[in-house]
Amino acid sequence: MDESFKLAHAQRMQRKKATVAAAMERSQTLQGIVVLLTGNGKGKTTSAFGTLYRALGHGHRAGVVQFISGTHCTGEVTFLQHMGLLGQGRQAQVDYHAMATGFSWDSQGWSADKAAAELAWSQARRMLADASLQLVLLDELTFMLQYGYLAVAELLQAIKGRPASQTVIITGRAAAPELLALADTVSEIADTRHAFRAGVKAQPGVDF
Ligand code: ATP
Ligand code: MG
Repeated sequence: MDESFKLAHAQRMQRKKATVAAAMERSQTLQGIVVLLTGNGKGKTTSAFGTLYRALGHGHRAGVVQFISGTHCTGEVTFLQHMGLLGQGRQAQVDYHAMATGFSWDSQGWSADKAAAELAWSQARRMLADASLQLVLLDELTFMLQYGYLAVAELLQAIKGRPASQTVIITGRAAAPELLALADTVSEIADTRHAFRAGVKAQPGVDF
């Protein structure tokens, strides 16, 4: 590489460093936030669990409620179980509840599903009031609004009223505008391509 390119690169990095330093100077608040991971692309639940493992690495306690596909055995939950981290209530490092229905197409009928959703939500509400949980992960929560199982006002109230230091991660497609408005960080994952459509089967360790 010629010397002028190297010099321009050094100058570019110097400018970048100054921009990052200025941004860090501006961002001084430590507080819990609401993170919304939505869109049709793959990577919402796995990203949320990535953040959960990150929090556990710092010794934080976390709560997880899985709406919809929670009773299906996934690697991320089995791993926590094998590590002895999963349980219910204050003794557990990861306070965990899975909604009692299977996949969305395995519906038990609207009323039974609504009852299961309300039970799962009561666990979520308990977690959102527990200041010893630094992180609460509400996986596939968006569908509970979409299907009319839960009321948006109650949901917003519980999330807004949580302890100031608690971070909430919400995942799921088709997030309601109220959730988009509420979240401090929103990532919308685009479905640019997915191997499933080329005939590749959902695989353990990659898809569940
Ligand atoms: P992941 O759990 O892999 O992070 P996700 O949470 O973003 O995925 P969901 O909509 O919850 O996606 O779907 C869960 C399952 O469906 C996963 O097995 C995932 O691989 C698969 N999946 C996700 N997006 C797509 C897609 N666009 N087309 C086909 N299958 C998908
Ligand atoms: Mg998901």
